[in-house]
Amino acid sequence: MADRYLSFTATAPGRFLTARLGLPQPAALSRWTAERPSLNGHLLHLTAGGPSGLDLAPVLARTGPPTASVAAGATTGSTAGAAGGSTGPAAVVLDATGVRDVDALAEVHAALHPVVRSVAASGRVVVLGAPLDARDHHQAAVQQALEGFVRSLGKEIGRGRTVNLVRLTDASAAESTLRFLLSPRSAYVSGQVIGVGAAEGPAGPVDWDLPLTGRTALVTGAARGIGEAVAETLARYGAHVVVLDVPQAAEDARRVAARLGGSALTLDITAADAGERIAAELPDGLDVLIHNAGITRDRRLVNMSAERWSSVLDVNLASVLRTTDALLAKGALRTGGRIVATASIAGLAGNAGQTNYGASKAGVAGLVRSLAPRALAEHGVTVNAVAPGFIETRMTAAVPLFIREAGRRMNSLAQGGLPVDVAETTAWLAHPASGSVNGQVVRVCGQSLLGA
Ligand code: NAD
Repeated sequence: MADRYLSFTATAPGRFLTARLGLPQPAALSRWTAERPSLNGHLLHLTAGGPSGLDLAPVLARTGPPTASVAAGATTGSTAGAAGGSTGPAAVVLDATGVRDVDALAEVHAALHPVVRSVAASGRVVVLGAPLDARDHHQAAVQQALEGFVRSLGKEIGRGRTVNLVRLTDASAAESTLRFLLSPRSAYVSGQVIGVGAAEGPAGPVDWDLPLTGRTALVTGAARGIGEAVAETLARYGAHVVVLDVPQAAEDARRVAARLGGSALTLDITAADAGERIAAELPDGLDVLIHNAGITRDRRLVNMSAERWSSVLDVNLASVLRTTDALLAKGALRTGGRIVATASIAGLAGNAGQTNYGASKAGVAGLVRSLAPRALAEHGVTVNAVAPGFIETRMTAAVPLFIREAGRRMNSLAQGGLPVDVAETTAWLAHPASGSVNGQVVRVCGQSLLGA
């Protein structure tokens, strides 16, 4: 279902009228295309709180927009236009890892205040923070303050620009994350706090264009919607994709698989032996497992039958637990493997009529946070989740008009996301160079007003 309001506000009369009426004015987002794979403009690198221990400049030089001229080590105050002549930056990276007290926090204001207005439309602001120090409550206070800062700036910055916070200790371990956030691939990711751990040992050479070459990725529920976009994106990154869906969707699954040069697997993921059947189908194992299949059966709790409850819990959570356990136990996920599960902002924030769905999706987040450290230690496999907000799919096209319009507008970007936005985020988490991103639940919601 096309977003006619977004098309209307892209016209001059539409812009005029909606501005006069004080209505939301969504900006058309710049997304990745083969012709325009990078942000269009330069990157500005700022520091607050004194020099950090991060060796950031070489990573940013590789990571940022190609025309980047990096003003490394620029300090507070005199930063506007420091690195790019007359036009504003396409991206600003503020290294605030050294901020340890409230005085130093003022440098965050001083660094961004003069430049924020000039950041290009669909540009990026990425703030880098340090992990909270349990032995220093002043450091913890101001590092946590960065979250409120980033989320607030994300809500006010407008023009399709996004603002995110990355907590890190090692710049090179965060390269895949910075590449993602500083690219058009992260168009619908804003207001997020992403933790990146230490490097997991020497990373082999990375092919940034085709990182999944030679790898096998299985995507559940991939015959249509978000799953189809995920399969397509992973195939574009070089993976052999296995398109799994229910028998009723076999024809669509085969069509998608044929288009992507992958294979189709017809299987109801709730089958008790689904994990075993996947392992039997892929005797050489797999590298990427995407738990995307999901259903809704909405009713308020007073009207919800046990069947509605259990069908949603079974597809969205129990089958994810069962197949993950079975595949890990069989060693079917190769070392360096990636599991990405699909949560939802409805699970994080709660949604009327969705006690079953909300419970299932919050359960996915719990599974990810608990399993991630063990899966990495025991199997060399990371476990993360994406939590989509309002994404333009058949699922959301079926939502009544008024609620659909509210879902589209009630986020900082004032529009729904596209399946490709979830797919690109999934592909970043599935990336071979994302081994230091583990146990994260990343919302792809344009910074929805629902939930934190
Ligand atoms: P969709 O209904 O368009 O597609 C879901 C796919 O999963 C279908 O192809 C379906 O046949 C398949 N599926 C369902 N039950 C299955 C089972 N038992 N075994 C195998 N396959 C099964 O949904 P979508 O909008 O593309 O959503 C994909 C995922 O994203 C779901 O987990 C959903 O909860 C989540 N999500 C979607 C949105 C959104 O706005 N669309 C928002 C938040 C989360």
